[in-house]
Amino acid sequence: MPSLNDIRSTFLNYFAKQGHEVLDSSPLVPRNDPTLMFTNSGMVQFKNCFTGLEKRDYVRATTAQKCVRAGGKHNDLDNVGYTARHHTFFEMLGNFSFGDYFKSEAIPFAWELITREFGIPKDKLYTTVYHTDDEAFEIWKKVGVPEDRIIRIATSDNFWQMGPTGPCGPCTEIFYDHGDHIWGGPPGSPEEDGDRFIEIWNVVFMQNEQFEDGSMKALDMQSIDTGMGLERIGALLQGSHDNYDTDLFKALIEASADVTNVDPYGDQNVHHRVIADHLRSTSFLMADGVMPANDGRGYVLRRIMRRAMRHAHLLGVKDPVMHRLVPALVQQMGAAYPELRQAQSMIEETLKQEETRFKQTLDRGLKLLDDEILDLDDGAPLPGAAAFKLYDTYGFPLDLTQDALREKGREVDTDGFAAAMAEQKAKARAAWAGSGEAVDSTVWFDIADAKGTTDFLGYETEQAEGQI
Ligand code: ATP
Ligand code: MG
Ligand code: MG
Ligand code: MG
Repeated sequence: MPSLNDIRSTFLNYFAKQGHEVLDSSPLVPRNDPTLMFTNSGMVQFKNCFTGLEKRDYVRATTAQKCVRAGGKHNDLDNVGYTARHHTFFEMLGNFSFGDYFKSEAIPFAWELITREFGIPKDKLYTTVYHTDDEAFEIWKKVGVPEDRIIRIATSDNFWQMGPTGPCGPCTEIFYDHGDHIWGGPPGSPEEDGDRFIEIWNVVFMQNEQFEDGSMKALDMQSIDTGMGLERIGALLQGSHDNYDTDLFKALIEASADVTNVDPYGDQNVHHRVIADHLRSTSFLMADGVMPANDGRGYVLRRIMRRAMRHAHLLGVKDPVMHRLVPALVQQMGAAYPELRQAQSMIEETLKQEETRFKQTLDRGLKLLDDEILDLDDGAPLPGAAAFKLYDTYGFPLDLTQDALREKGREVDTDGFAAAMAEQKAKARAAWAGSGEAVDSTVWFDIADAKGTTDFLGYETEQAEGQI
């Protein structure tokens, strides 16, 4: 059975044989791209090659790209622990053509790799095309996919965009049917969000550029951008529908079971999954220079860490544990990503400090949350003031409180939370204005808004970034 490391190599070697330059993953913090919080797909480092702004000395490339989807247009944070196929950090395998080959080569490449090299049975595969894309439909027919397995989709699922601006285009996707013992339906059906039919590969026909004012223009060149989740194809080739059953995740979940002393089976399994997933995203983000902070990228990192720490707490651990999992991760992924090994001691130290610090308020915060719920009617949302107190006094990011409540079938009154935040801010302004200091308070707040220097400003800054 091939390991994830083997599958990554097979993919890159296949495209190297087809004349593609094998390139390194780019960092998780996009260079020179303020529109994007984290690298969320393989095409990010090639954005300017598609628009023609940048010329390289090759027209075909292939990568295994580190991706984080925990904010912005593609946000899978809330899926982790609930689906078998989503992570906050994952590797996207991709092949790219910059004005070189287009649909009639990209589709046969993908088909040959998965059916011949990987040997996936054809009768388990389905494809989708954008509803108006007759050309892609015909090419799929030509490579041998029966017509009733080529599904036309009219939604944005088959029109790929990195974010609100940038190169984009219609796409075709490949799905695998894991069988009727798993809940879910084919793409386009009401049950498509289940884990039975899993999307493994997305092939984008880059031919448009989207601008801030909402307009879209056709690009001069037609290009290809593809993305296949390594963990999804890995699960499939290792005989499972579940990414968390792959060799890599099994090793991380085993390590989590070891340090927490809790079996990885049954009801506890979900906590180990979240811990394993969040261990990867937080470690890789730190290896790429993001540090925990109260605003921007650093606040997203801190939020992911704290979510993991709450799940460790639910497993009953008393002492910090996240840092003790880093060696298992380095063992699994350090060879493919040397930056992880280089940053190992810094990652361990930072995780330990953060967990030690959060533990001081985590227990009391969760106790407060439980007490608040006792007083609520069935299904009633948690009042915004309580969520704000958890945020302000106990360091609970709003989404951590939401995550905790979701398990209990409740939500947070987010309007009330925003109101409590605004009130706190107004009070702080008034206190400052009344302090008699010879400083224009509006100037101070402009600076604070720009730099995000305090805890409560952190939430706002994050919200603003989350929208891009
Ligand atoms: P889904 O519909 O399952 O959420 P997607 O359409 O959002 O996936 P794309 O943006 O098309 O995903 O990304 C390309 C490929 O990357 C997907 O086909 C999938 O194999 C993989 N992928 C996407 N999101 C994740 C994730 N959160 N975790 C693991 N793999 C992912
Ligand atoms: Mg998605
Ligand atoms: Mg999809
Ligand atoms: Mg897709």
